[in-house]
Amino acid sequence: MDYHKLSLKKISQQVEVPEGMIRLSGPLERDNIVNGDGLRAVVWTQGCPNHCPGCQNPETWDYCTGILVPIQDVLDQLSTFKGQTGLTFCGGEPMVQAKACKTIADYVRKEFGWDVWSFSGFTYEVIKEYGKEPWDFVKSLDALIDGPFILKQRDLSLRFRGSSNQRLLRLKVGTGKILSIE
Ligand code: SF4
Repeated sequence: MDYHKLSLKKISQQVEVPEGMIRLSGPLERDNIVNGDGLRAVVWTQGCPNHCPGCQNPETWDYCTGILVPIQDVLDQLSTFKGQTGLTFCGGEPMVQAKACKTIADYVRKEFGWDVWSFSGFTYEVIKEYGKEPWDFVKSLDALIDGPFILKQRDLSLRFRGSSNQRLLRLKVGTGKILSIE
């Protein structure tokens, strides 16, 4: 199986939501310390095409469930979260709603000075080759934790990651250039 080609096909399967909306898998979270550096807000997105065996959140796979909310409501709620240093997008798969995620990412950076991280089951290379909205979203990130969860490579000692194939990539905001790899 050509996993790379399969991933490119999967990333093209975007969640269809009306303009100005985002499909979430759960309520916004605050004061999170396990999904990135510092004290973080978390946006949990709905929909994932990767279906990794051993995934802890299979209820987030469906593209049609979860909660459909206006992006403005997300921004309004995030603006009430005091004392946060950043925002992390978790899933589900944020790249299948990349346009909405980028809107939120750019807003919290500009208005609150937060840094922005995202998880993705796709690798940095697959996202970059695909381009379009997912790559535009990556260019708005300070860090990407990339790659699928692989049960055989599970390692509970890793910071922020579930399996050893996943990488913590620190990125240059605006270009998506990799600054460091953990
Ligand atoms: S990419 Fe994440 S949410 Fe999607 S199946 Fe894999 S572990 Fe689960």
